Amino acid sequence: MRALCWHDVNDLRVDDVPEPELVNPRDVVLRVTMTTACGSDLHFIDGYLPTMREGDVIGHEFMGEVAEVGRKVEGVEEGDRVVVPSFIGCGRCGYCQDDLWSLCDNTNPNAALQEPVLGDTTAGIYGYTHAFGGYAGSHAEYVRVPHADENCFHVPDELDDEQALFASDAWATGYMGADFCDIEEGDTVAVWGCGGVGLMAQQSAALMGAERVIGIDRFPERLRLAEREAGSETIDYTAVDSVVDALKAMTGGRGPDACIDAVGMEAHGTGPAHAYDRAKQQLKLHTDRGEALRQAIVACRKGGTLSILGVYGLMDKFPLGIVMNKGLTVRTAQQHGQRYVPDLLEYAAEGEMDPSYLATHELELEESPRGYELFKHKEDSCVRPVFVP
Ligand SMILES: [Zn+2]
Ligand SMILES: [Zn+2]
Repeated sequence: MRALCWHDVNDLRVDDVPEPELVNPRDVVLRVTMTTACGSDLHFIDGYLPTMREGDVIGHEFMGEVAEVGRKVEGVEEGDRVVVPSFIGCGRCGYCQDDLWSLCDNTNPNAALQEPVLGDTTAGIYGYTHAFGGYAGSHAEYVRVPHADENCFHVPDELDDEQALFASDAWATGYMGADFCDIEEGDTVAVWGCGGVGLMAQQSAALMGAERVIGIDRFPERLRLAEREAGSETIDYTAVDSVVDALKAMTGGRGPDACIDAVGMEAHGTGPAHAYDRAKQQLKLHTDRGEALRQAIVACRKGGTLSILGVYGLMDKFPLGIVMNKGLTVRTAQQHGQRYVPDLLEYAAEGEMDPSYLATHELELEESPRGYELFKHKEDSCVRPVFVP
């Protein structure tokens, strides 16, 4: 089959690779019908995550049609149309039972690569380094889905692929970020970043009853999407002297009730093992990320909530003293998709939220390297390229 493979830093190619097979009785093999690039993919494409190997199939945000079913899978049948969260849950460990799916104890077989840095392991993820499990990714004609009865969610017939796809990751992540804010009537929520996750967080915050949502970015077309799709007010951070001052001015000097950091890269992965030097390097090259989080901490009202979806390695200069003195609540996680996907699909089916506008470029799998170029450089107003194998 054809699949998009990582060969080296900034070297992605569509290759012939063996088709996946059922390995465990709770697996299914999915024929991928649509898959999308995620900001977090850019970390290893740019060489900041060290446990990629030549030939690894990448991609972790996807949906498809069930092609083959393991003998112990219940509730999923050949031909079913399903969307699959990017983190793999087992459904049976204590963390999965507590709906903390990205912390699953059983789906990352490469614990030895993560534990030295994290002190523990996360769940496995498709197509995202060997430290995160070494699973083959979804930018392929077929992908193996383990623990299928816990990870496959049936897509209502009336939804297009573009309407369901982002429940796999961008939408679930953004929705979780808004959920962390415990939004109450009258609340103002500020969101740093108007990419896929940031837009989803803004729309979700509005859906949850936020009175005002403020989106912060520098790309005019993304700010327009935030205004049009989420009803957000917006700040172009290149057009103001101080984002913090702008937010204070917009909120009567008080600051937003909740601040969501969804800057740049999307929320997958802290640095895996032996990544300390690389993480430092990464931070130096991406100081703007730390800057957004610091702005959020300073801008947030006293007693407010800081919801962190952005990717961080080992961040220097984290102003913990401000967090403490202002009594902020910090909430963060990799996405617990399985907790949210059923609700998201229901919202989509009822027409309450439609994320399909994120899919700005639809390409065949053979064109996916070009899709990543468009995505990385935000060319042609690209928010998300989607690939159809
Ligand atoms: Zn992602
Ligand atoms: Zn589990």
